[in-house]
Amino acid sequence: MTQHIDTALLIGSSVETGQETVEPILNPRTGALILDVLEASTAQVDRAVAAARRAFGHWSRTTPAERSAALLRIADRIEAEADAFAALEALNCGKPINAARNDEIPAIVDCYRFFAGAVRTQHGALAGEYMAGHTSMIRRDPVGVIASIAPWNYPLMMMAWKLCPAIGGGNTVVFKPSEQTPLTALKMARILSEELPEGVVSIVTGRGQTVGNYLINHPDVDMISLTGDVATGKKMLDAAAKTVKRTHLELGGKAPVIVFDDTDIDEVVSGLRAFGYYNAGQDCTAACRIYAGKKIYDRLVADLSSAVSSIALGLDDDTQNEIGPLISLRQRDRVASFVNRAREVSHIEVTTGGEVMPNGFYYKPTVIAGARQEDEIVRREVFGPVVSITPFSEVDQAVAWANDSDYGLASSVWTRDVGRAMSTSAQLRYGCTWVNTHFMLVNEMPHGGLKQSGYGKDMSAYALEDYTVVRHVMIKH
Ligand code: NAD
Repeated sequence: MTQHIDTALLIGSSVETGQETVEPILNPRTGALILDVLEASTAQVDRAVAAARRAFGHWSRTTPAERSAALLRIADRIEAEADAFAALEALNCGKPINAARNDEIPAIVDCYRFFAGAVRTQHGALAGEYMAGHTSMIRRDPVGVIASIAPWNYPLMMMAWKLCPAIGGGNTVVFKPSEQTPLTALKMARILSEELPEGVVSIVTGRGQTVGNYLINHPDVDMISLTGDVATGKKMLDAAAKTVKRTHLELGGKAPVIVFDDTDIDEVVSGLRAFGYYNAGQDCTAACRIYAGKKIYDRLVADLSSAVSSIALGLDDDTQNEIGPLISLRQRDRVASFVNRAREVSHIEVTTGGEVMPNGFYYKPTVIAGARQEDEIVRREVFGPVVSITPFSEVDQAVAWANDSDYGLASSVWTRDVGRAMSTSAQLRYGCTWVNTHFMLVNEMPHGGLKQSGYGKDMSAYALEDYTVVRHVMIKH
């Protein structure tokens, strides 16, 4: 790829380079250096927050129609450069180009367009006289300046999920992409500087413990929005406690998948082959923890292992690849260490995969059979192309095991019996339950967790609620 790569930050209206430590950006397919990006200095973060505070004064008073128009313009700009954005995301994350271009970019453009519509159609409680001689009304107003912190697995999409409801709701944002994947956010800097008034969005790069930590502790930030690890979420809460900032936390996941004996196994296998391994399993909703009915267990293990062994990765012709490498050597080694520890457990069998590949940060798609509820591989988030299968005999046992997790983001139930699908879904303590599918997201519907997967919704009108506050105005006659 020969495209120009932007490395400048956006501070207020100023597109400028960072001033601190160099962050090397690596190509996960090869491990080679793509380029260096400089971190923002604390002075640059201060200027970004100050610009956001100044911009809030007028942006919070714009009409929904004006904010909607801005979101539509940004959507058009991303769409016009869809190929370049996809190529950059594929380069920085190692995603197959088809996944970036055909799956992610259209969903990202649609996110901006959905929120452009949603901000103009909010409704709520009736104004009226709840005390004689007084009229009450409810307002929904923006929160203020938002520190927005994103992870590395879907960089441009996470940026869309965070920016759209925030700026659509009338807030201003200082956005920090992951230090490992800042390239598409930095490409957005120029577009945002041209399509939004000064200071509505600033983009600062850098590591979590330096730039991120400084930003979330900034006294002039009103709300922290994080998509990231549970441990990072806890740091957000510590920081928020100091000045009672609002928080919006989308943390990890360990999605259970309950497969009943009456299911169409071929459909389950082709579903799990896709939904367990998409984005190399680096997805907080990945279908990674299977509970299979006893009658179908053996066939499911055999068929899934065979299907997973055919997943295409690491081919020279990227258009043929179905998944890419892990994001970093550290992540690949972390995944490998989970599988190696599982392999040492006597009742566990690695039926396919379980190996690093020679080039870049690739790890072979892996199926782990015979896992039990107490095993580490069933309990902890691996965030890689690894799926465990556990047999169950009773429905109640499967539901109890599925719910027996610190996480609560996503889940699925596979059965031909509608009643069983309904009753099982109703008992699952997860932000989302799919029936006979998994992983399907639409911008109209909310995405977010329970338990330690965090709280607050991305996508949908619920996200607009999270980035706004309800206010009561009462008028004495
Ligand atoms: P991470 O928590 O390490 O980093 C996320 C972001 O937080 C990065 O930008 C990082 O720089 C920043 N950060 C880290 N420490 C910080 C600190 N002390 N102060 C301020 N910022 C800090 O997560 P990751 O490794 O980038 O992403 C993987 C994790 O994200 C997984 O656990 C995954 O499940 C989760 N995730 C969740 C969702 C969701 O919607 N629930 C979506 C994607 C990823």
